[in-house]
Amino acid sequence: MKQDIFGLTIEELQAALTAKGMKTFRAKQVFQWLYQKSVFDFSAMRNLSKADIALLEENFTVLPRRIAVLREQNSSDGLTSKLLLGLPDGNSVETVLMRHDYGCSVCVSSQVGCDMHCAFCASGLNGAVRNLSAAEIIAQVYLFNERLRGENTMVSRVVVMGSGEPMLNFDAVIGALDFLHREDTCLMSYRNMTISTCGIIPGIRRLAEQGKPINLAVSLHAVRSELRTSLMPVNKGFPFADVITAAEAYSEAGGRQVTYEYILLKDKNDSVQDAELLSNYLRFKHASVNLIPANPVPEQGFERPSRQRVERFLKILQKNRINATVRKEMGKDIDAACGQLRAKFAKEQEHK
Ligand code: SF4
Repeated sequence: MKQDIFGLTIEELQAALTAKGMKTFRAKQVFQWLYQKSVFDFSAMRNLSKADIALLEENFTVLPRRIAVLREQNSSDGLTSKLLLGLPDGNSVETVLMRHDYGCSVCVSSQVGCDMHCAFCASGLNGAVRNLSAAEIIAQVYLFNERLRGENTMVSRVVVMGSGEPMLNFDAVIGALDFLHREDTCLMSYRNMTISTCGIIPGIRRLAEQGKPINLAVSLHAVRSELRTSLMPVNKGFPFADVITAAEAYSEAGGRQVTYEYILLKDKNDSVQDAELLSNYLRFKHASVNLIPANPVPEQGFERPSRQRVERFLKILQKNRINATVRKEMGKDIDAACGQLRAKFAKEQEHK
């Protein structure tokens, strides 16, 4: 069995390679090819000798080369790319690249599927299959870095907002972010990283204990308790008022503003009353609200509110001095909602 060296630190890589008889400085060269040049084929690592390349190919493998791109969707404006990745064990996850004028960001998945069963989300339809490893999370970023090589740029931001609840795979998520932060990999600032949770309070507390300026986003989506529980069953264990308190504590500890995500679902949570209630909870908090007009999930029967209703909701928040914006739509013409592409792919396979 070949050892997969992707995601090893330089020290671990040196130990693995020298154990097979390679020189220590070669490990440094391989590390640079992998994480600074996003080159994953040993044969393309031009400063290695033929003998070293043969030794590497015989003994080692690199995760991005073991991941298959099962589907790729690109938005017509060229700003959003979504990949459905086939992992070596046969599972699949989605990952999305978004090009902004301030750089490229990737939305990574943290689990295969999700156990949180949010009613509007295709990722939670069949529950969680397993956690992703730190290497599998890092690979999502690096597969896009490889594609960006020709443009002489790298991913500069990561949001852990794809399939899965990151707080339930905490160690791997933090391990991946720490890896991307290293100066010998992406040198990505923690301030350019965001973890999004549906409200797992122990996870928010653990993140605060890390003392890293990672951005926290909380998926709120409803304020009326019964409605939130029907949309997000996690509300039963972690009621939103307690979630807001934990998020506030996170904000106070690190001085970072918390972002509350609020998907607007037509005639469910987009009324004047909902906007006023949300304002009452967030007034005077170091927080912002990101309003997301729903991407319809056909399996669940949710609809997107009209532009007028979205505007009305936004105006009420702003009148109440809440820092609120409507998320810029990206990738509307691809299956941009989390889990849609994976669900579609699974359905196609069933009918084959
Ligand atoms: S919205 Fe997030 S937490 Fe909820 S089911 Fe989907 S992936 Fe899981």
